[in-house]
Amino acid sequence: MAVFTLPPEMISFYKKNIEFITAHSVDPDKRRYASEVEAPRHYIDIDHYSKDGQNPFELMPRRWLDAVEKYSEDTLIAYGIVPWHIASMTIWLTSSFEKGNANDVLRLSAEIGHYIGDAHVPLHTTENYNGQLTGQRGIHGLWESRIPELRADDYDYLVGQAKYIDRPLDAAWNAVEESHSFVDSVLFLEKLVSQQTPTDQKYAFEQRGASTVKQYSQGFALAYDRSMKKMVELRMRKAITMVGSIWYTAWINAGQPNLELLGEKVDLETIAEENKKTEEAFSKGKIKGREHDH
Ligand SMILES: [Zn+2]
Repeated sequence: MAVFTLPPEMISFYKKNIEFITAHSVDPDKRRYASEVEAPRHYIDIDHYSKDGQNPFELMPRRWLDAVEKYSEDTLIAYGIVPWHIASMTIWLTSSFEKGNANDVLRLSAEIGHYIGDAHVPLHTTENYNGQLTGQRGIHGLWESRIPELRADDYDYLVGQAKYIDRPLDAAWNAVEESHSFVDSVLFLEKLVSQQTPTDQKYAFEQRGASTVKQYSQGFALAYDRSMKKMVELRMRKAITMVGSIWYTAWINAGQPNLELLGEKVDLETIAEENKKTEEAFSKGKIKGREHDH
């Protein structure tokens, strides 16, 4: 969707490769089960740093080296690094534009889109990321997957044009800070709607292939979404705008290369093959899942 925010010099290249981008936008989530370094890139438990009710965003330095000095690298990695990772990836994307490799540009574009999406999800900014500390286990998937899936057709994803971002690190921090400002409402409203919902109507059993799965009922998910007004849709719209803007920014910073001349054409068959292997390994349990699911 971010593709449609791009200027004419970029849009046709991205449009042509939209399937590739969509396919690769989930790579980071697949990888996190195989790789130790992957998981913390998806979130930041910023409330971990809050002391005596102080605003953690005032305590946490935005620059990586300052943050390392204050809290140590181990601590930062333990509680998540999403804003810094977005900033690093913007630099990697810029250099792949400079080098002119189509595969790298598309892969990094897809992946940075994933992390920017995560940074816009309130539950990716808190230690209580799945409501596990407040008896609301499952809320993560409800907010991030179940509601958007149910509402996808009603959401308006036309978000206007990509804009140049002077300081990607600040933009990433601003996204996280705004996301975090919604955490209390996200949790409170789920409690409230739960109280207003008869217990036997909160969950439903749905047939998925051969198995029956318990999940939030459609009625409950929609009532919860209504209670949050347009929060979910607006967070997604902001994420889409930022994704397009970061792609555009990296391209500008690389000197606006002609994308029609990028080398190494994308080989969709090799990619499909790679994806199949990852999925097979995943389903055979070679790649272990973790409980930490945000
Ligand atoms: Zn993720």
